[in-house]
Amino acid sequence: MNYTGTVYRPPYEANSLLLQVTTGCSHNKCTFCSMYADMPFSVCPMEQIEADLDEAAERWPHTKRIFLEHGDPFALSAERLLAITDAIHSRLPEVETIAMYASIPNIRGKSDAELRLLRDAGIGDLDIGLESGLDEALALMNKGYTSDEALEQLLRLNAAGITYIANVILGCGGPDLCRENAEATARLLNAVQPNLLFVGTLHAEPGSRLYIGMQTGAFRECTFRQLLDEQEHFIECLELEDTYYFGSHPSNIVPMQAVLPLHKEEMLEEVRKMRKHFAPRLDDYPVRGSEGSIRNR
Ligand code: SF4
Repeated sequence: MNYTGTVYRPPYEANSLLLQVTTGCSHNKCTFCSMYADMPFSVCPMEQIEADLDEAAERWPHTKRIFLEHGDPFALSAERLLAITDAIHSRLPEVETIAMYASIPNIRGKSDAELRLLRDAGIGDLDIGLESGLDEALALMNKGYTSDEALEQLLRLNAAGITYIANVILGCGGPDLCRENAEATARLLNAVQPNLLFVGTLHAEPGSRLYIGMQTGAFRECTFRQLLDEQEHFIECLELEDTYYFGSHPSNIVPMQAVLPLHKEEMLEEVRKMRKHFAPRLDDYPVRGSEGSIRNR
């Protein structure tokens, strides 16, 4: 299999076949991210994709699930994506789901009819870095869309029957907007009802614009207390009917996985327990390790 650059995937795609169809990210401007900083967005040649699929058909003929790489393959035109799904199904007939990272602008570039064709071709479980439902926070992270635009595009996915995972980031509005960020993000999620919610906590990769802003003081991070308060309020505000809450990212203070609304009270209790555990350090700032993991000082 041909891979260019570091290959990232969500934790729940650990058993998926990773097939690279693009390199880099078509946006590549989020202030906290430096994953593809030195890699311009490009489209992999169809010959390379077909050669990888020929190899996969020999080695893993019973593949059921594929995750397309890199940063946002849903940026490809519907025509190109359909050519790729055809190439997949003709060589790997047992594939049921073709998932990938996607962004709100990627959806905006496709018609409703195209979205339905992509669903029929097996595309689903798009992993969308939504991050927030608060316009000020979206602007701080330079996501390139507003909350209203995100709502409109996610409702279009719902109408087309394309499933997706919504990624959100606690603390991304900074300490002054914790409450607003919790409320606006929950409001957006309640309106679209994602199947899966991936919750992380703000950390900036070294080299990113946000990292530099944190070093110079231009962006203030949240303390343990502020992050815990935001998470508690966020969970309180969620009115999800049947969503898996995946909060096991190493950046999180309270790692948890649960089903909403079933486990809402237990989740709130976990946050409150962690607040007691962190009592002597509530006004400290988390010290970050790799992938934003919290290190003990
Ligand atoms: S966070 Fe995602 S959309 Fe933003 S620059 Fe990084 S890869 Fe691209």
